[in-house]
Amino acid sequence: MKTIAVLTSGGDAPGMNAAVRAVVRSGIYNGCKVFGVNRGYRGLIDGDLFEMDLSSVGDIIHRGGTILKSARCLEFKTEEGRAKALNVLKVFGIDGLVVIGGDGSFQGAQKVSEMGFPAIGIPGTIDNDLAYTDYTIGFDTTLNTVIDAISKIRDTSSSHERVSIIEVMGRHCGDIALYSGLAGGAEVIIIPEAEYNEDEICKKLIQSKNRGKKHSIIMLAEGVGGAQELSEKIKEKTGIESRATILGHIQRGGSPSAFDRIIASQMGAKAVELLLEGKSSRVVGIKNNEIIDMDIHEALAIERKLNTDIYKLVDVLSI
Ligand code: ATP
Repeated sequence: MKTIAVLTSGGDAPGMNAAVRAVVRSGIYNGCKVFGVNRGYRGLIDGDLFEMDLSSVGDIIHRGGTILKSARCLEFKTEEGRAKALNVLKVFGIDGLVVIGGDGSFQGAQKVSEMGFPAIGIPGTIDNDLAYTDYTIGFDTTLNTVIDAISKIRDTSSSHERVSIIEVMGRHCGDIALYSGLAGGAEVIIIPEAEYNEDEICKKLIQSKNRGKKHSIIMLAEGVGGAQELSEKIKEKTGIESRATILGHIQRGGSPSAFDRIIASQMGAKAVELLLEGKSSRVVGIKNNEIIDMDIHEALAIERKLNTDIYKLVDVLSI
């Protein structure tokens, strides 16, 4: 293994830069050349690659977003698109590819491996929706952004004695809503993985108000949808003033947390180590505080499960 390419793909996540830095620096440390690919698989098809040196990743460990930019690329889902990309990798003399992204990006990496080209995935997504790893890069920073927003909304919500519904990202995965809800002291969590009953929620809000609570916070995952509609229904059914806030893209930005920088650095170095060992079709992750690697097919086949202990705990602590 002499020449490695690295790309970031799918939705961006804080900490991707720290992972790129780790791939570049540990690659060079181990005597490799490292190329960066701009705009994910789009750049791979277009031949938008450039050689990176030690200083090209200087001053980025603390920056959100990704210096390599990210894109969604439908053409890469076609055999012709992937054949073009493989040709580009050959032309540039690349021997192995590191893909930093979410499950879609991993499916792309899996296809690359199936074409006989070594590829390793690093989990970079704020959603934390990859079951094989305890954490994905970006999730912790997003939680911190969300709990900061919850605190601010809580101030105004308690002044006006309102219910606040805060809609957060995560698509089909409720982890951002669940864990920020626990950390932010929410009363109710509404996520795609668990059934909810509107009347039960309204009852809880009324009981809370009657025992003197000045405000209540409901965390709503975007996969369930409709913060504004829910707010109107709650007002109608309980008579309590209610406001919806959709946090939106603020959740993707910001300087990565220490935790995200640490796991990104470890995972980046691990991906290079795997390529140097001649491995392919693997993803890296963190399980029980240890950096692990696993076959991509196996990792993508693991079904996500709701952490019911955490879900119940939110209910107990918001009694
Ligand atoms: P996030 O969930 O954080 O947005 P992601 O990696 O899941 O990240 P996607 O948009 O699903 O984001 O995928 C990113 C890119 O990966 C796609 O634009 C496409 O180029 C490639 N990709 C996704 N699925 C496949 C697939 N089945 N085969 C080949 N390439 C794919």
